[in-house]
Amino acid sequence: MTSRIINANQRRLDCDVAVIGGGTAGFGAAIAAARAGLSVRLVEAGPKVGGVMAFCPGMPWGGGYPQGRTIGGIFSELTDRLAQMTPPAAEVRACALENFGLEVLYDHEAATLVMLEMLSEAGVILHLNSFALNPNMQGDLIASIDCADRRGTFTLVPKMVIDCSGDGDISAKSGVPFSLGDAQGNMMAVTLSFHMIGADCEKVFAGADPYFQQLAAQGIADGLLHPDLHKLYLMQGFQANSVFCNTVTIRGVDGTDSDAVTRATQEGRRRCHQVARFLVDRVSGFETAQMWAVGPTVGVRETRKLEAVYRITGEDIAIGTKFADGIVACDNPIDDVMRDTAEMTHDAAVQQGDYYTIPFRSLIPRKIANLLFAGRLISADPVAFASVRGMPQCIAMGQACGVAVSLAVEKGCSMQILDTTEVTAVLAEQGVWVK
Ligand SMILES: Cc1cc2nc3c(=O)[nH]c(=O)nc-3n(C[C@H](O)[C@H](O)[C@H](O)COP(=O)(O)OP(=O)(O)OC[C@H]3O[C@@H](n4cnc5c(N)ncnc54)[C@H](O)[C@@H]3O)c2cc1C
Repeated sequence: MTSRIINANQRRLDCDVAVIGGGTAGFGAAIAAARAGLSVRLVEAGPKVGGVMAFCPGMPWGGGYPQGRTIGGIFSELTDRLAQMTPPAAEVRACALENFGLEVLYDHEAATLVMLEMLSEAGVILHLNSFALNPNMQGDLIASIDCADRRGTFTLVPKMVIDCSGDGDISAKSGVPFSLGDAQGNMMAVTLSFHMIGADCEKVFAGADPYFQQLAAQGIADGLLHPDLHKLYLMQGFQANSVFCNTVTIRGVDGTDSDAVTRATQEGRRRCHQVARFLVDRVSGFETAQMWAVGPTVGVRETRKLEAVYRITGEDIAIGTKFADGIVACDNPIDDVMRDTAEMTHDAAVQQGDYYTIPFRSLIPRKIANLLFAGRLISADPVAFASVRGMPQCIAMGQACGVAVSLAVEKGCSMQILDTTEVTAVLAEQGVWVK
């Protein structure tokens, strides 16, 4: 079999599970599969783990506490380890923005280190700066994946593949149908984040409007801010006297197009400096503050949504559906960011006091027997997607896929015939809030 799929001059790396992408979903997937005793290789295109979390350093983990209670599992382990450090490197706070509940603020560097430690303790083999290029198919199986690092190309030969790449290149190339953005193909805007340090946060956050709309309107009218900045997303950062600025948002960017992402990052950097100048010159509390930790690239919210056995919908979440194959609870608002207009909305997803669960079937492709996917490429309609995409939920989706591949390897079955309620049962044993 392998002679047909591997060039003789290429390095061949075997494993039980290949996890593509080391964002929050890939982190959860790789740890869960490795802890189940499988050999796991995690291939990450960038120089760090975290994905969007690394591209927007310091971005709070939202959605981890539906109704004020932790979703549990690997997300909780990570936050507990950080909170138990001396001094504590994470804390749970109420989010100031509409309809978000509790969120976790953390020291980004400590979190990256702990994530790497957790991967290493689980026995995951990490390939940073390595890109998964192409799947080699044998019928409905991914037989191998061609990858590249600076030494050249190599071939991964896994039994199971979990695509956690956010954009789903490997799934799409293996034939999984997908849609981009909403029904018109509009994708959420991308954002280049930064911090201001040395701010007087009491003064900065003294006003009643969490979106600073009056100031923003003045800045736009005076030609100091881009017209899309009618709401400023400024949040207290984890470090003392720091403000996380998640506000420079660029519309109409296709995150699967490297050239478009490059242009957006350059434009974003220019706009970050413009906003920082405006804050120092015009906003009380920023007089002596400085810019810090600008993201290395724009954070991409939304690209491909893969077709799965089930597509979670806005109707499902609005009525607080608890699926039989639920893998994690969620009550995140519909956090829709400038898909076709300059509007951002944070409408409540469920009735006050309620939550819904994410069904495991929305991570299972219809045909490819040894593939699962997790994270922001989940099969979801545009409304549901705007709610399910928080980082804690992405970690939990990854954890579910790691558990599922271990069950599938044990039973020697395809992903499509695996009993999904077994996945839910194992996750519950692992302390994940699934019902
Ligand atoms: C600007 C912005 C603000 C947000 N705000 C919040 C917030 O406040 N709180 C919150 O909880 N969530 C927030 N989100 C949502 C959340 O960050 C994302 O939905 C989540 O991080 C997605 O995780 P993921 O692992 O699915 O994908 P990603 O984080 O996109 O990770 C995918 C990884 O795969 C790698 N990759 C891609 N292709 C390949 C390949 N072919 N080979 C190898 N590696 C590959 C990428 O380098 C990346 O590291 C925000 C998102 C953005 C963009």
